[in-house]
Order: sequence, then C-alpha cells, then structure tokens
Amino acid sequence: MDLGLKGRTAIVCAASRGLGRACAEALAAEGAEILLVARTAGPLEEAAAAIAGAHGATVRWVAADVATDAGIAAVVDACPDPDILVNNAGGPPPGDFRDWDRAAWHRALDANMLSAVLLVRATVDGMSARGFGRIVNITSSAVRAPLPILGLSNGARAGLTGFVAGLAREVARHGVTVNNLLPGTFDTGRLQANFEARAAREGRPVEEVRAASRRANPTGRFGDPAELGALCAYLCSPQAGYINGQNIVLDGGAHSSLA
Ligand code: NAP
Repeated sequence: MDLGLKGRTAIVCAASRGLGRACAEALAAEGAEILLVARTAGPLEEAAAAIAGAHGATVRWVAADVATDAGIAAVVDACPDPDILVNNAGGPPPGDFRDWDRAAWHRALDANMLSAVLLVRATVDGMSARGFGRIVNITSSAVRAPLPILGLSNGARAGLTGFVAGLAREVARHGVTVNNLLPGTFDTGRLQANFEARAAREGRPVEEVRAASRRANPTGRFGDPAELGALCAYLCSPQAGYINGQNIVLDGGAHSSLA
C-alpha cells in the first residue's frame, strides 16, 4: 500500500534509537522528509546517515532536549511547518513515590507531558491552516494498565492523554488527527535498562528477568520496534484520516480486557 507520504515533512522526537528511530525509519521508507531529534549529536548523526542511506530519504537532525523551552525552540526553528509530529522522550525512572520530590515530578512532566503539549502548540495551527496534519504521541501501555513502580510515568502520561483527548476533537475538522501509541514491552535500550534495574532490585540475573518477561507475554516474545514504526507511518497517512483521538495498545495482548 502506498501511504501517500512522499514529500511530507515529519518531526520525530527522541529518535536516535529505539521506538522513535523506528518511527523515523518507517516514515522515511514511505518517502517522508525527516527531522530527527535527540539530545546527543553523535548517535543522531549516525542514525540520520543510516536512515538516509537505507531509504534514499532526506533526513536532517537537531540535537535538542524536548523537555526544555530551548530544545523546543530549536526543533521548531529547524522545521517550523511539519505535516507530521511524532512526540516522544525518554521515560522517567521507576521507583517508589515516597522518594520523588517536586523536582522529580517536574522532570517527568516536562519530558513526558509538556514536551508534547508545547510542540503541539507550536505546530498544530499551521497544520490546520494547511488542511493536513498528523500528530502521534508515544506514551505507554501503563496508561491502560498502570504499574506502581512507574508512578512518574503513569502520572505524566495520564496528563498528556487527557490533553490529547480534547485536542483531537478540536482539530479533526481541519484535517489534523491526534493519536497515542501505547507500547508494552519492545526490545529497546530502555527495556534492557528496566530489566537491569529489576534484576538488581531482586538479586536475579538479568537474563532470567528478560526470559520471564518474554514468556509472560501472550506472543512469547518482545515487540520489534519496526512493528510500532509501521503503525506510526500508517497513522500518519491520508488513509488513516478517520482514526482520531485513539489510544492504541501494542503489547501482544498482555493487558487482558474486552475493550
Ligand atoms: P530508548 O531506546 O532509550 O531511546 C530513547 C531515545 O530518546 C534516544 O534517542 C534518546 O537519545 C532520546 N531522548 C531521551 N530523552 C530525550 C529528550 N529529553 N529530548 C530529546 N530526545 C530524548 O527508549 P525507547 O524504548 O525507544 O522508549 C521511548 C519512549 O517509550 C520512552 O518514554 C519509554 O518510557 C516509552 N516506552 C517504551 C517501552 C518499551 O518497551 N521500549 C514501553 C513503554 C513505554 P538521547 O539520550 O541522546 O537524547
């Protein structure tokens, strides 16, 4: 299927590796022009060259922290009129809420709620004026099935989810859709770091923790980031114009519910 993305411009945040990078790969494969964002220049430069080489796509990059005003300004300066915005940032650390002070909560809110809200604020009216826009936010399956040790993530992402629920209904009549992707366990650096933290807490080998998690999923495996990237690209296509305001879980069916 041709997703009709040739020549569309896309900002993809937190995209030098992991899920953001997979979204950038899938959009580039469809002919979109990409602005890759992450905080560290070296891996960004490598990722941009690799994606451009693999897909013959135009891939630019900007080193920026989307959890800061300066970072958001740098992203918008580099690509003021995107057709597509993929919001993403590193996840907050797991832990016990008793250990998190106001500063810890502000860091989580800046990264996992306000980065997306402020990038939307800077770009969505332009999308509406041009009659086309796609906004995809990478959140977490924990929005549907919260885990106590991910309290910072649960709180910040629930805030973003609430904001998006209203926004999506406001902008859809201008050709702009807004959806959230809720990953479960995808095989990325972040997942490995979570397993290492759990293994240390429980005094077990990391491989044992990994294997138990893999087995516990109905599919018997972790998600491949390319699977999330492919859905992101589809949601950004004109064909997906009637999918709006949705929270789409990609977890192999781990969270059992009727809806
Ligand atoms: P990852 O493999 O660790 O990759 C994170 C990417 O984000 C890197 O490119 C990193 O580069 C960039 N980044 C981090 N903080 C940033 C910031 N403030 N501004 C700009 N770029 C930033 O992580 P991942 O597994 O892809 O996870 C992505 C998001 O999905 C996280 O919020 C995570 O909590 C969430 N999630 C992941 C899973 C999973 O199974 N993997 C499940 C549920 C939710 P720099 O460090 O150079 O900035």
